[in-house]
Amino acid sequence: MTTAHAIADTRHFVRAARQQGRRIGFVPTMGALHQGHLSLMERARRENDAVAISVFVNPTQFGPAEDFDAYPRDLDRDAALAEGVGVDLLFAPRAAAMYPDGATTYVDQAGPIVETLEGAHRPGHFRGVLTVCGKLFHIVEPDRAYFGQKDYQQVAAVAQMVRDLALPIAIVPCPIVREPDGLAMSSRNQHLDADARQQATCIHRGLQAAQACLDAGVSSAAALADVVRQTLLDAGHCTIDYVAIVHPQTLAPVDTVAEPAVALVAAHFGGTRLIDNHLLTPKG
Ligand code: AMP
Repeated sequence: MTTAHAIADTRHFVRAARQQGRRIGFVPTMGALHQGHLSLMERARRENDAVAISVFVNPTQFGPAEDFDAYPRDLDRDAALAEGVGVDLLFAPRAAAMYPDGATTYVDQAGPIVETLEGAHRPGHFRGVLTVCGKLFHIVEPDRAYFGQKDYQQVAAVAQMVRDLALPIAIVPCPIVREPDGLAMSSRNQHLDADARQQATCIHRGLQAAQACLDAGVSSAAALADVVRQTLLDAGHCTIDYVAIVHPQTLAPVDTVAEPAVALVAAHFGGTRLIDNHLLTPKG
């Protein structure tokens, strides 16, 4: 595996691969890799001839009061894990290379995909995400890029950007990888103390409870959201940013779950903000 810090070295690597007719799968990450990230890389490995990943804690997607400084970083460990699943290129740019002094161009998107839920609670977040993804796509020029459905809005926003800007990249959404007790894997889970870690399992339990109610014939989105909210509250003190049930493509709120709809949750456990979601699927 090659590790590159410079944009020029990354371009050189991927262009050489493309000249050999190799198709490139790309997995952008912020590092602190876990099995969720590795599942994306393994899939990219199966579906492409070469796999590139990026490890970059992107400052522009964090708000001023968020955890940019505290975000876990361990490039040596990440490199060993990536190499273990057959990654060919790890691109770990310096912030100054991604955002040179005087950079004033950003990718902005409008509409419910970026303005609701995470977009409403984290102003500027998706502008940062889309700007860095746009830039990484231009540097790596992948054939396919792999994103986890844990960040449901993120993959929807990136797919929208790729459509809107006619980028020649297939966006591949990948399933959420969970711990054995259901907690969605996240680099931020390592900030949870033992109590918060135990309590955080309520997110998945709440989402499963909503699915069970839907299976039992409750189709009101408000009632199903209440089931999730109540499960979180029953588990102990946590601050809920939102529980929402929305259309899987438009992300507009739905009243009734007659067709599949996504239930999304964001909540804080002992100072750590976690997100998760589940595709509520009516029987039959
Ligand atoms: P991050 O490093 O948090 O920016 O995540 C990089 C990519 O890994 C994003 O596409 C995430 O959605 C994906 N990812 C993170 N956690 C998981 C997970 N538990 N299961 C599947 N994909 C994930």
